[in-house]
Amino acid sequence: MGSPTVTQVADGTYLVGGTEVNWIVLTEGDAVTLIDTGYPGDEELVVESLRVLGHRPEQIAAVLITHAHIDHVGSLPGLLRRGAFPVHTSEQEARHARREFLEQATALDIVKRIWRPGHLRWSLAISRAGASRHVSVPEARPFPGAGPLDLPGRPVPVLTPGHTSGHTCYHLPEVGALVTGDALITGHPTSRFSGPHLVAPFFSHDPAATLAALTVLEPLDADLILPGHGPAHRGPVKQAVALARERATPAARKPRGR
Ligand SMILES: [Zn+2]
Repeated sequence: MGSPTVTQVADGTYLVGGTEVNWIVLTEGDAVTLIDTGYPGDEELVVESLRVLGHRPEQIAAVLITHAHIDHVGSLPGLLRRGAFPVHTSEQEARHARREFLEQATALDIVKRIWRPGHLRWSLAISRAGASRHVSVPEARPFPGAGPLDLPGRPVPVLTPGHTSGHTCYHLPEVGALVTGDALITGHPTSRFSGPHLVAPFFSHDPAATLAALTVLEPLDADLILPGHGPAHRGPVKQAVALARERATPAARKPRGR
C-alpha cells in the first residue's frame, strides 16, 4: 500500500488521490461525508485518508456515490464492515450499485487497447487494486429527498446520466465546488489531456449522453472542480465545460454501438 494524497481544497473539503482514482472527504465537526471510495484495494487508503484528517470510519455520516464502477465503490463493502452508515446515490445508480445490472467496460475492452500509451502501466496498477473483482453494494439507496442533503458539506445531487445511466455529480454551493465523478475529469493515465475533458468513450455506457450531460453542469455556480480522476481544477465550471466539449472526440458524439 502506498499512501493517499490528501489535499485540502476548501473549508472542510478534501480531495484524496488513491490508486488512479479520487474520493472526496467533507468534514463538519466529528462527522464526515465520503463521496466515492476507490478500488477494493484502496480500503486502507480510505481509512488512512480519514485518519490523517483526524477521523475514523465510525464517523462517516454517509457515503455518496457518483457512480457504481469498481474504482468508485470498490472499498465500500469493506468500509461497511467497519462502521454502519447509509449509502446514497440516484435511484438508477442505486440499482446499478446493487448490481441489478452492470454498465462497465469489460476486461476485453481494456485489453484491446493495451498497446496505447499509458494503458499497460495503468492496467497493472488497477488490477493490483482489485479492478477485476466483483463488487456489489446491496446497501445502496436513493437519496432521501430532493435538494441539499443534510450531511457535512450540504452536497446537492446533480443527475448527469451518460457515463452510467444514474451518474450523479455533487454541487457544494457553500464552498463553490463541484464533484464531477467521471462526468468530467482532469487527468487519466490513458488520456493525452490534462485539465477538463471527458473520459475515453469506451469507458462510458453512453458517450453521447455523457457529452450532453455537460449542459446540466454548465449553469452551476462553482469555480472548483473535484473530479473522479485527475487533480482539482480551479476556474468557472462554464469554462471547464467549454474546454471538455472542444476536446470531445468524434466517437463521443455518436450514439453507443455505431
Ligand atoms: Zn472512474
